[in-house]
Amino acid sequence: MSGFDDVNYHFRKAARVMDLSPHVERMLVTPFREVKVDVSITLDNGELGTFIGYRVQHDKSRGPMKGGLRYHPTVDLDEALGLASLMTWKTAVVNLPFGGAKGGIAVDPDTLSPRELERLTRCFVQQIHDIIGPQTDIPAPDVNTNAQVMAWIMDEYSKIHGFSPAVVTGKPVDLFGSKGREEATGRGAVFALEEHLRGAGLGEVRGRTFAVQGFGNVGSWVARFLHERGGKVVAVADARGGVANPEGLDIPRLVEHAKRTRTVAGFPGCDAITNEDLLVLGVDVLVPAALGAVITDANARDVRARIVLEAANAPTTPKADEILAQRGVTVLPDIYVNAGGVTVSYFEWAQNIQQFMWEEDKITAELQRHMREAYATLARLVRERSVSFRTAAFILAIGRVGRATVLRGV
Ligand code: NAD
Repeated sequence: MSGFDDVNYHFRKAARVMDLSPHVERMLVTPFREVKVDVSITLDNGELGTFIGYRVQHDKSRGPMKGGLRYHPTVDLDEALGLASLMTWKTAVVNLPFGGAKGGIAVDPDTLSPRELERLTRCFVQQIHDIIGPQTDIPAPDVNTNAQVMAWIMDEYSKIHGFSPAVVTGKPVDLFGSKGREEATGRGAVFALEEHLRGAGLGEVRGRTFAVQGFGNVGSWVARFLHERGGKVVAVADARGGVANPEGLDIPRLVEHAKRTRTVAGFPGCDAITNEDLLVLGVDVLVPAALGAVITDANARDVRARIVLEAANAPTTPKADEILAQRGVTVLPDIYVNAGGVTVSYFEWAQNIQQFMWEEDKITAELQRHMREAYATLARLVRERSVSFRTAAFILAIGRVGRATVLRGV
């Protein structure tokens, strides 16, 4: 199954519970627009580098489309389609006035110099500037893109359309980014877990054990917030390797190590662990926070955690999802768990439109409110409909997007 098929599998499962008509189902699944562009730049050595860029706009019934840009060799139309549709459902789960989009460039950014990366980003904006915009489609950071990349996007777009900070979120705070945006996805994921632990009468983060896959923006912030709350992060892995310590890793020191060496591997005082072993470690909570499709039918039976906190997008394949459900493992789904990033992106966009800055306390409190309200609705749907959290999240999202679509008229 492709990434888009995977998302639509979950969509259809929820649609069956809702008794959605096949016509509405087809309309909601169908993407609004798919764009594929040539991004050719002059490399530092004078040669021509040709890359392919993508932007998929999935649904705009509830507002401007919103979603990240990923720079990774696996980026293609299917991946962008799947991730764009996830954004439609995610923005609806946390009730933001946005639709869904996603995109990126098929490139390994480690092979480019900073100047090449800047040229690549600016060229991509020149190719897609007429389909993005503050009221149309607002990109944001994702895998291998960061605040600096967002600053280049804002600058290039503004050269063509006039000063437009609201065209992109996740910008540096000095360039009208929002306080709290960098850590928002990680913070939101930990709020989601806390809501669940409280809601299910399972206590708190303190004293529990965690394994985190991915130590970039999302994984490193999840680990920091868990550590701050007294959680024991016993294993962490990234693309270059992993480290484990049953006594719990010193996360602030690990963050420093990873900044210096660009990997968690080799952190002193712990054992090495592979990504495969990390996923099946005996911990209370497993946190996939890297790429998609890492929990599959090949390893789902071996997952020993009782809770999977999906900080990454689409880390669990549909077959693995069924296996985990049969085994009584609670999966808190991506379209709820990692919605903190787009929620604070919404606050950033709103601040840019109002030309006003919010203080971080307000941002954190509002983020927690969004995560809390969404959890309360999801938990009620889980109880009333006897469904998983994922199906509940899709029911909630499809209801909101479906009503907006029908009210606006076809
Ligand atoms: P990032 O580029 O900052 O970090 C990615 C991390 O994953 C790095 O530590 C990298 O080494 C690791 N990784 C890459 N390939 C790997 C592999 N094969 N095995 C193990 N680790 C690997 O990206 P990010 O922004 O932290 O995004 C991580 C996930 O969270 C993605 O699924 C993304 O779509 C999702 N997400 C991100 C945001 C956001 O605000 N950045 C919001 C919502 C969801």
